[in-house]
Formats: sequence, structure tokens, C-alpha cells
Amino acid sequence: MKRKADTGRDPDAKELKEAKRIAALHPLVQKDHPTAVKADHDKLDHINTYGSLPDYYIDRPFACRKCGKEEIWRARDQKWYYEEAKGHIDAKAVACHDCRKGGAK
Ligand SMILES: [Zn+2]
Repeated sequence: MKRKADTGRDPDAKELKEAKRIAALHPLVQKDHPTAVKADHDKLDHINTYGSLPDYYIDRPFACRKCGKEEIWRARDQKWYYEEAKGHIDAKAVACHDCRKGGAK
């Protein structure tokens, strides 16, 4: 079966449905889900939060705030964003790939 790089950019209906189902599960169930990616707290020390740091990342379905397109923010991309790019923990994916690039009108 031919498959493009799995960026979550153009999820099909089945992928979206599954991501939404997983996103709605209890955290303890998500944590052990095969799609969950473990967080490394040592790499999250740039984060000052009164809340707790995440123990894991899970695929996060979202609708673009600009065009409404539904995409999936992959767990491994969140890990990169928070731990390598040192993104703020309150930053969430809100715009799709195209809108973030400023290409979509
Ligand atoms: Zn968009």
C-alpha cells in the first residue's frame, strides 16, 4: 500500500475519526496506547508551569482556526516542538500547515 509521509497534514476520514477517539480516551488509557510518545521531562525544563508537565504526547486532532481544515498534530511532532524547538507548553496547533505558511487565503 502506497503511503505518503505521515505528517498528519492530510488525514483521511478514518484517521481523523481514530485520532478523535483516542483523544477522548482516559489519560491512563492514552498513556499506554501504541500511538502515545513518552515525554522527556529533562528536555522540558524551559517550561515554567503551575500545572504538571506532560508524561506523554498523543496525536491531537484539530480544526484550523483560519480555514477550518481538520488536521492531526502528531505526537512525535509535539515532542519535537516542545523538547527540541522549546515551544511553550500552552502553544497548541491552531492553524493548518498551509495557513501557518501563509499560503492559504
Ligand atoms: Zn488552514
